[in-house]
Amino acid sequence: MTTTTLITGANKGLGHETARRLVAAGHDVWAAARDAERGSAAAEELGARFVQLDVTDDASVAAAAERVAAESGRLDVLVNNAGIVGRRVAVPDTTAADVGAVLETNVLGVVRVTQAILPLLERSDDPAVVNVSSGMGSFAVTNDPERLESTIVGLGYPASKAALTMLTTQYAKALPHIRFNAVDPGYTATDLNGHSGTQSVEEGTDAIVRMARIGGSRLTGTFVDRAGVVPW
Ligand code: NAP
Repeated sequence: MTTTTLITGANKGLGHETARRLVAAGHDVWAAARDAERGSAAAEELGARFVQLDVTDDASVAAAAERVAAESGRLDVLVNNAGIVGRRVAVPDTTAADVGAVLETNVLGVVRVTQAILPLLERSDDPAVVNVSSGMGSFAVTNDPERLESTIVGLGYPASKAALTMLTTQYAKALPHIRFNAVDPGYTATDLNGHSGTQSVEEGTDAIVRMARIGGSRLTGTFVDRAGVVPW
């Protein structure tokens, strides 16, 4: 049976490349994006189906879930990819509103989408959720002087990704029949970092694609990158 997959933030960057690779792997892909014009253009180019989905908007998320239910009947893989870095500002000048905006998208957005999609995942024989976290959310990586992530200091983004990784392991414990795994793409050239990332989007999507394609595996509650396990 064809694997039906929804990817948030699929109009560009890692989400777009994930969609391209999963379409090539034979998945029936819903390329979700908040902007209808850019999203539908990307979906058409990818050979995917477009659905409008703003992860910060309850009504948009509910409508997207209804549309997928009506047209696909179920979902096998959800890739929670949409994310933002937020306003680039020094730590002492960072406000609660700055942090809140990042948490709204990167953390609450994932809960909003996951909760709305869960009934569709429950209809799959082999459901999986891939949460696109970051080494910036790892206590170990951000405190390892050998890692670039230890030199980047901020509040909202690292806190949001640490929370997302924790959400992943808690979902995995609560719902053992669904695979929930967090991935760190690694530092990848996209709009998120002004294309300063050192990896290509293909390298950056290796772990996402792997976790989206481990059908039948019991691997859940893990945090991995393209090289293997990421320390918490
Ligand atoms: P990107 O090129 O900036 O793409 C981000 C995507 O998220 C865009 O499609 C964007 O849509 C979408 N998005 C943002 N807010 C949204 C919302 N409210 N609703 C729906 N979609 C929304 O960045 P990227 O590098 O591909 O990032 C993808 C994921 O990888 C993020 O979660 C990021 O934190 C994570 N990550 C990236 C790196 C890296 O080095 N690039 C490293 C570790 C983790 P618009 O085009 O409409 O803004």
